[in-house]
Amino acid sequence: MAGVRPLSARLVRITFAGAELDGLQIDEPAASVRLLLPGSATAALVMPIWNGNEFLLPGGRRPTIRTFTPRRSDPVARELDLDVVLHGTGRASEWAVAAEAGRQAAISGPGRGYTIDRDAPAYLLAGDESAIPAISQLLESLPPETPTQVEIEVPAPEGRVALPEHPNATIEWHDLAPGAPPGDALIAAVRRTEIAPGTRVWAAGEAAAVQRIRRYLFNELAIPRGQTTVRGYWKHGRAGDDDDEK
Ligand SMILES: Cc1cc2nc3c(=O)[nH]c(=O)nc-3n(C[C@H](O)[C@H](O)[C@H](O)COP(=O)(O)OP(=O)(O)OC[C@H]3O[C@@H](n4cnc5c(N)ncnc54)[C@H](O)[C@@H]3O)c2cc1C
Repeated sequence: MAGVRPLSARLVRITFAGAELDGLQIDEPAASVRLLLPGSATAALVMPIWNGNEFLLPGGRRPTIRTFTPRRSDPVARELDLDVVLHGTGRASEWAVAAEAGRQAAISGPGRGYTIDRDAPAYLLAGDESAIPAISQLLESLPPETPTQVEIEVPAPEGRVALPEHPNATIEWHDLAPGAPPGDALIAAVRRTEIAPGTRVWAAGEAAAVQRIRRYLFNELAIPRGQTTVRGYWKHGRAGDDDDEK
């Protein structure tokens, strides 16, 4: 790990560096990598062994692995940035709070990203805090002329961050009401948004919340499935060792 920089009170950018990143090429926005964490913030990293079915540590324990968006990768400088939400209790979140240069972690990937439809008449991007890195990349990758509506839910105003400039994007931030289930404000925002025919929708966040968004898009609006990408990034009340499968 080469550096740590707060982007907001709830989001921290962690830069990894090392020869092991040689050749890590990420071509599409909203891709994924898997982050293997040490047993504790100060412990040395122990690499697990693939037993043909899963990664296991010596003694048979499962390693802590979480999924993140490779926010910036530089194959020449051999650097990789991950933006990690400081949401509270969670191995990755707690590790990120204590992260400092020199500590070790391992990365595998990348997993497939999102292919932008450059001919789409408009885009709707919707997500919670965990989707801010992916939404930022999408804003950087979308054609400048494409009208783009962005809806982001944060648990508190201090979760807002500066997003990349896009000349045709409208960004709306929504604060989750205290005690409301995650995604509540995001779902309401998506329901309020006028979605013109042909609009491509990309949404990610808490699994149950985005499932409700998916049902709204398919069942109520009858948007063709090929025009939507909806991904569960985490599950409320459940630690994620297998986030990709959510
Ligand atoms: C493709 C993909 C890309 C992702 N990209 C990012 C990214 O760039 N940045 C990022 O921060 N996350 C990202 N995530 C989500 C991240 O993998 C999960 O939030 C993960 O569970 C965090 O691990 P943890 O150890 O901090 O918490 P866990 O140990 O997994 O969970 C502990 C508790 O915290 C809750 N929790 C987990 N995540 C959140 C959250 N975001 N907000 C509130 N409560 C939460 C859980 O419900 C559980 O109760 C991505 C997920 C996927 C699948």
